[in-house]
Amino acid sequence: MKTIGILGGMSWESTLLYYKWLNEGVRERLGGLNSARIVMHSVNFHPVEEAMAAGDWETVASHLVDGAHSVRKGGADFLVIATNTMHKFAERLEAETGVPVLHIVDATAEYAKAMGMHTVGLLGTAFTMEQDFYKGRLEQKHGLKVLTPDTSDRSLVHKVIFKELCCGQVCTNSREEYIRIINGMEQQGAQAVILGCTEICILVDSGCSPLPLLDTTHLHVQAALNRALSEG
Ligand code: GLU
Repeated sequence: MKTIGILGGMSWESTLLYYKWLNEGVRERLGGLNSARIVMHSVNFHPVEEAMAAGDWETVASHLVDGAHSVRKGGADFLVIATNTMHKFAERLEAETGVPVLHIVDATAEYAKAMGMHTVGLLGTAFTMEQDFYKGRLEQKHGLKVLTPDTSDRSLVHKVIFKELCCGQVCTNSREEYIRIINGMEQQGAQAVILGCTEICILVDSGCSPLPLLDTTHLHVQAALNRALSEG
């Protein structure tokens, strides 16, 4: 079994799910007392988020590069960046550490395409919904048509992530707003919605959504299990 390197803490609310689901997945697949081989570096998210909000991406990158190096030194065979937004630095982390990154966009898009989907909605931080490292990769590398909410709804989705979900708060009003936004995407032709933030699965699930959900946390974990348990 390969050693999975997790760069987490962004926020720890979702890193917890990665840790739990990876271990449960190994137990399901191998049985007995088998559990995942994991090396994890979990950052203090407060200074990282402050730097993001200030647009100081070099400071953000330096926290991530330090974390990725500690995961490399711990013997990780590949790196799982346990947040969608920080895939902004996926190529840089791979280049600076030499540890291959298991990209969350590729894991998600490959599943969507295997399910025959071509048009998907995307919810996540403003960075994820607006920038090329994420939305652009879905469109250009994977050929998916990606629908995002309008400006004011993007701002609402972003705010709920940082002010509530990353703080462990789940509010009924916010769930209703997300469902309203998902309904709008269905009307525009989306076949499913990508939960492009690792905490959104805490707020909405298939039981309350009018469209199928592509939960990046779950799909990233499944891809990590496949890689960790594969030969070669
Ligand atoms: N965990 C979130 C994501 O998947 C947001 C927090 C962050 O900016 O890392 O994008």
